[in-house]
Amino acid sequence: MKFLITGGAGFIGSAMIRFLINQTNHCVLNIDKLTYAGNLNSLSDVVHSPRYQFSATDICNHTALTNLFNEFKPNIVMHFAAETHVDRSIDTPSIFIETNIVGTYTLLEVIRNYCQQLSYVDQQNFRFHHISTDEVYGDLLPTMSPCTEQSAYSPSSPYSASKASADHLVRAWFRTYDIPVVISHCTNNFGPYQHPEKLIPLTILNALNNKPIPVYGNGKQVRDWLYVTDHVDALYTVANSGRIGETYHISGYNEYQNIEVIHTICDILSEIKSENYTNLITYTTDRQGHDFRYALDASKIESELNWKPKESFHSALYKTITWYLNNQQWINSLAHK
Ligand code: NAD
Repeated sequence: MKFLITGGAGFIGSAMIRFLINQTNHCVLNIDKLTYAGNLNSLSDVVHSPRYQFSATDICNHTALTNLFNEFKPNIVMHFAAETHVDRSIDTPSIFIETNIVGTYTLLEVIRNYCQQLSYVDQQNFRFHHISTDEVYGDLLPTMSPCTEQSAYSPSSPYSASKASADHLVRAWFRTYDIPVVISHCTNNFGPYQHPEKLIPLTILNALNNKPIPVYGNGKQVRDWLYVTDHVDALYTVANSGRIGETYHISGYNEYQNIEVIHTICDILSEIKSENYTNLITYTTDRQGHDFRYALDASKIESELNWKPKESFHSALYKTITWYLNNQQWINSLAHK
């Protein structure tokens, strides 16, 4: 089959492509604008495959996207491309509106035209998989149950509001134009090749470089963590076997306070390097509108599609830390972005 991946030079998109090329026989077209977050070095072990192609294209460019669809003729589109960092969305919301909302709208319109040209059988087999986040539901109190697929949206940040808007567009294009869509929402991911603006790589790299490890507010905000290969496994399951028009939650059931995650990283690093890192932890002014807790109920994907995460939080964190210790070349490549 042919997979068109948007945002495949980013953290999760590149993990998806490494899986598709290294562990399946599918062909991949990666469409990525290569913002500061996109890094082709994350794809160095698949770039020579005859089943892999890349196009440096903005998902807001309707004409370029139409041409790429007509040439490649995808069976499955997985939409990862987005602006993803909450802090950046607070500083400069406009690019989040442009890529996450207008970009998703542009992609949906290109797909609407593309589907009309497909044969009946190809139309029946086509899928648009939209990748969304737990953040669209807003935050939860400690005593509240994790959000289900029926929970009401209540986004707090420009990032989560732009992702929520994109989700609404995808559902509207399904209902109005019969575009065969599936949507998944995932909790916080971590693993190799994640940009060091995000909590786990930032903590690892600042510790190794003897820099302050910043903690927002009191550090008691709770996030639910999932190792990126478990997310990729779930996404492949949803893209292939998810029911059209349905939404699936993906979660690792690893709820931890940010400060607990930071201390665990410092402890693992101390074990490996016999040094103390906790003295670098530095409390900073809290993020504006900082959500307290996110959590998703993933029982639907478990019972319907038989998916469960394989990695434990601690062993996956150990693997992630080891990866950052052994991949200085990839870390250096970020300096040239
Ligand atoms: P990322 O920031 O690492 O990568 C985003 C990619 O999109 C980059 O390669 C960037 O160059 C590309 N891109 C940005 N704007 C583009 C545009 N206009 N046209 C084409 N490409 C563009 O993001 P990620 O962490 O890999 O997240 C991927 C998706 O998963 C996002 O939609 C995000 O909302 C969702 N998600 C992420 C997490 C997480 O913890 N990282 C959790 C849940 C959901």
